[in-house]
Amino acid sequence: MLLVGNGPLLSLVPGSPYQNDGAVAISGALIVDVGPTHELKARYPEAEWLDARGMLIMPGMTNTHMHLYSTFARGMALKDPPPGNFIEILQRLWWRLDKALTLEDVYYSALVPLLDCIKSGTTTIVDHHASPHAVQGSLEIIARAAEETGVRTCLSYEVSDRDGEEIMRQGIEENITAIKKYRGKEGLLSATFGLHASLTLSDATLAACREAEADVDSGFHIHVAEGTEDVENALERSGKRVVERLADHGILGPKTIAAHCVHITEREISILKETGTMVVHNPESNMSNAVGCSPVGDLLAAGVPVGLGTDGYTSDMFESLKVANLLRKHASGNPSSGWVEVPAMAFDKNSIILSKFYTHPVGRLEPGAYADIILVNYKSPTPLNADNWFGHLLFGFNGALVDTTIIGGKVLMRGRELLYLDEEAIAAKARELAARLWERF
Ligand SMILES: [Zn+2]
Repeated sequence: MLLVGNGPLLSLVPGSPYQNDGAVAISGALIVDVGPTHELKARYPEAEWLDARGMLIMPGMTNTHMHLYSTFARGMALKDPPPGNFIEILQRLWWRLDKALTLEDVYYSALVPLLDCIKSGTTTIVDHHASPHAVQGSLEIIARAAEETGVRTCLSYEVSDRDGEEIMRQGIEENITAIKKYRGKEGLLSATFGLHASLTLSDATLAACREAEADVDSGFHIHVAEGTEDVENALERSGKRVVERLADHGILGPKTIAAHCVHITEREISILKETGTMVVHNPESNMSNAVGCSPVGDLLAAGVPVGLGTDGYTSDMFESLKVANLLRKHASGNPSSGWVEVPAMAFDKNSIILSKFYTHPVGRLEPGAYADIILVNYKSPTPLNADNWFGHLLFGFNGALVDTTIIGGKVLMRGRELLYLDEEAIAAKARELAARLWERF
């Protein structure tokens, strides 16, 4: 047993999210007790003691829409003229990068951001992968990287028609294999069924995916109405908007993640609510791609669970909190907005979304939950309490303040030192592979 205590404790448990002093008792991968430090020390005298020394104890941050494979795009020059719209970003960057990936690239593309997750206190991600010329075995390679780094990872492969029928079929198979192997099992890994987006999926492919998914009952993880091009394409194909088209094909439901949902109508919000579909907001990505802003206030008000992701833009969810807050205020024209919606997305809703993929609660410190815990080296310059903790996170925190990261009861970083990973060696190998990929790109 491991006892982590002696610091302010942000449990994020509804009703009592914060206490001035607390400790967490961990047995194996799970939390068994949470309470005042002196009480837990008395109750578990034999436990190994990890002293937070006044650092803030909180659950690891979570990211419900991530693309590990985007790593090698960092610093890469595009050979074509700069993209002028969303579809050109896909054509000139992502659909060229993903085709150039080998399985070895996939492995190092995953290791680097997973390592960044540990360093910035992100303990769970929901990944969405593409490597059309190296589909088979790609999720297994990412699973290996996740297990070696120790980061809780939900896998999916984005099925698409854009590289032909054979690769589309391989994508379906890759999802099904991972779901059968990892979903509903104890441990770091889970899996769901990835789909790229309505604009690259024919009616026949959607039907084939639905048929394959029926056996495993996983739900889907798909980009929805991210750019106006997705909406125009859906209207052309079916006379329906994206959410309506996907609902008709049985893609939506309480286990499905619809990432983005930028260009949606009130009627589509109602369909998302009626089907119980989960949405993930990705503020940095949406701003960077200049695609617009998801109506997260309307979605949340309608009762749709909207989580927070990064779409591969960063591994640091503290960054994402700040951008989500700024975008919410900017888009609504209301400087008081964001205070309720942003913590709801980052914590409550991400926790709800992850509960569909994992057998124990994620994202809160309570008995029975996964022992995914971070210690943040934050010396509060103003009073910190149960009513204002989110203001401290928003204005005082960043990933570099994370001192200690524990996932599934295993201490992965202590005093900012990675205990099991050689960051320099991983970065050196990644640089070598990225340089080769850039030549092929
Ligand atoms: Zn995405």
